Amino acid sequence: MRIVRLLLMFSAAVAAACALRAERMQTVCRDDTVIEIDAGEDQKMVDWAKNTLLPVVANWYPRIARILRSPGYVAPKRVSIRFIEGDGVAWTVGDAITLNTRWARGELNREAPGAIVHELAHIVQAYGRNGRKRPPGWVTEGVADWVRWMNYEKQPVRDAIYAAAKGHRYDESYRPTAAFLDFCERRYSRVGGTSGNASSGFVVRLNAAAREGTYSDDFWTQNCDGRTLAEVAGQWQASYGAALTPSNLCACDAQSPDRRLPAAPDARLREVERQQKVFVARFPGLK
Ligand SMILES: [Zn+2]
Repeated sequence: MRIVRLLLMFSAAVAAACALRAERMQTVCRDDTVIEIDAGEDQKMVDWAKNTLLPVVANWYPRIARILRSPGYVAPKRVSIRFIEGDGVAWTVGDAITLNTRWARGELNREAPGAIVHELAHIVQAYGRNGRKRPPGWVTEGVADWVRWMNYEKQPVRDAIYAAAKGHRYDESYRPTAAFLDFCERRYSRVGGTSGNASSGFVVRLNAAAREGTYSDDFWTQNCDGRTLAEVAGQWQASYGAALTPSNLCACDAQSPDRRLPAAPDARLREVERQQKVFVARFPGLK
């Protein structure tokens, strides 16, 4: 009897192990990064992880590593994502992301993939490694949300984020800071920098300073034609008077690989206003 019970326990353990293995999935990105997702036991979440999340991560992790490049830095080559029933949205420790399925279940086709893109940016940022000085938290969260909203999300959402940040402070983190950094990116990127390398984008330079532990208030005067952080923030808010003119939108869209807006200026403006309404309905409140 005891042997039978032992056998039953053993087979139950094997079945559990197999079930667990079936829910773990792995893929290798084009830059050889190994992505591993442990999606838990909820079949709906397992299907979403396989069909939606895994392709997003495999596609975007190498892109984020390129967007947030700095000389001599290699982003982690192993990333793990674990689903748990918990609190909050998602968080990252080292190269491990945890996603709260209690929140994600209602956001599978809305915010959840973008939230993971934000966390992937944190892995690539790697601020504070080897005891280096960390930048202020708003820089860390702003850069991660700039990667998400101004790169991963589509152009109308970018414009809506930009417009919605009007009147917010540059250092509120997340979307307001993402909009501020996008202004800096458009205004203070050095196209064809003197060194001839690709590190001329504003956010590339900000990220490099943050990663190397050299970020300070001096960064702004050194990278924004001698202007202080407060002065650049003032420029950003002043830019809102013209933020939604068709010409601004054209300039913004010209930098974007996806052209989703109509060509005619009036139609573009109408489309952005429509997208803004949709956006505000989707994301009430900015943070
Ligand atoms: Zn974050």
